[in-house]
Amino acid sequence: MSAALLRNNAGPDQAANDSPIEYGIKWECRRTSGPATEGKGCAMAKDARVYIGVDLGATKIIAALFDSKLKFIASEKIKTPREGSAQAVVKALTECVLRTLAAAAEGSVLGGVGVAVPGPLDRAKGIVRYTPNMGFKDYHLGEELAGRFGAPAILENDVQAGVLGELRAGALKGMRNAVGVFIGTGIGGGIVINGELYRGATGSAGEVGHMILQDGGALCGCGNYGCLEALASRTAMAKDSIALAASGKAPVLMDIAGTDLRKYRSSVFEEAIAGGDKKVKVVLDRGAYWLGVGLANLVHLLNPEAIVLGGGVSTRFGESFRKKAEASMEAHLMPGLSGTSKLLLSGLGDLAVPTGAAFAAAEAS
Ligand SMILES: [Zn+2]
Repeated sequence: MSAALLRNNAGPDQAANDSPIEYGIKWECRRTSGPATEGKGCAMAKDARVYIGVDLGATKIIAALFDSKLKFIASEKIKTPREGSAQAVVKALTECVLRTLAAAAEGSVLGGVGVAVPGPLDRAKGIVRYTPNMGFKDYHLGEELAGRFGAPAILENDVQAGVLGELRAGALKGMRNAVGVFIGTGIGGGIVINGELYRGATGSAGEVGHMILQDGGALCGCGNYGCLEALASRTAMAKDSIALAASGKAPVLMDIAGTDLRKYRSSVFEEAIAGGDKKVKVVLDRGAYWLGVGLANLVHLLNPEAIVLGGGVSTRFGESFRKKAEASMEAHLMPGLSGTSKLLLSGLGDLAVPTGAAFAAAEAS
C-alpha cells in the first residue's frame, strides 16, 4: 500500500505538528488499493502531481513547490533549529514542507520530495551519513520522510542539487557540458558531462574547493594547505579581513563585526567597503583572483560550455566579482582555450538547490 498527500479543500492554516496526517485539513492521506506501488505515489492523473524540493541548510531550510511540469509555484523558508538534534531538524523540515504545500491547487497529489543535504550521503538507501551542526548520523531520512509524506522521498547532495537546478531551469539550461561552483563558507562544485551530473566512482566527484592551487598556502578545513576553498571562500576572505581589523587597517569592519568569524556574512564586507575600508576590497579581489585560477584549471580539465557561480558570495557580490574572476580565469588559460567557456552568475539564486532537489525527486519517481 502506498499513500499520497492529497489537497482536498482550502481550510485555514494550522500549526504543523509531527504528523502531516494529523495536520491536514488541507491535506489528507488517501491510500490506494491493489498491489503495492511503494515509491510511486498514488494512482492519480500525472498532471495533478506536485513536487517539493528542500534545501536543508545548517542555518535555514528552504522548501519550494513545483507543478507536474516542474514549474515553480511557491517557496517557504524557516530557520534551522539551533539545538542541533536530528528530530528537531526533521520536525522543522516537515513544517516547512507543509507550509509550502498550502500553495498547491485543490486536487494536487504530492508526487515526490527531494531533500538536499550538506554532508556525505548514501543516496540509494536514503541515509544521511553525517552533517555538521544538525545531529544526523547514519540517519534514515529518506525512509522517514517517505513515511511522513506518503510519497517517494529522495536525498541529494546540496551542491549537486544546486548544479542540477541550474542545469534544468537556470543559467545552464540546455547545456551538455558545464560546471557549477558554489561559494559560501566553503566551496563546492558539480560537473555536468553529456547533459548529466557526473558523480565519479563513489559519488564524490566535483570537490572543486579542494583542488590544491598553492601547496603550502593557507590552511584548509580539510587539512591540506592552499586549496581553492582556503583561498577564495567567504571563510578565507573573513580570516584575512579579521587580520586587517585586528591590526587597525579596517576600522569600519572592526566596528561592525570585530574579530568574530561567525559575524562575517557577505553583507558585512559590503558595509565595510561602503564605509571606507579599502583594504577589505583588496581581500575580495584576491578571492576573485584565486577563484579565477581554480576556474582556469576546470576549463583545462573539462572544456565546459559554461561555468556557473552560485552560493552566497557570488550572489551578494554579483557582476563585479564575476568579472574579476573571469579576468583571472582568462589570464590563466592556455592559448586556444581562451574565450571557450562562459562564466555566468546563478540564474536561480537561493532557489537553485530546492529546484534541483525537486527535479531529482521527479526524475526518480
Ligand atoms: Zn581543502
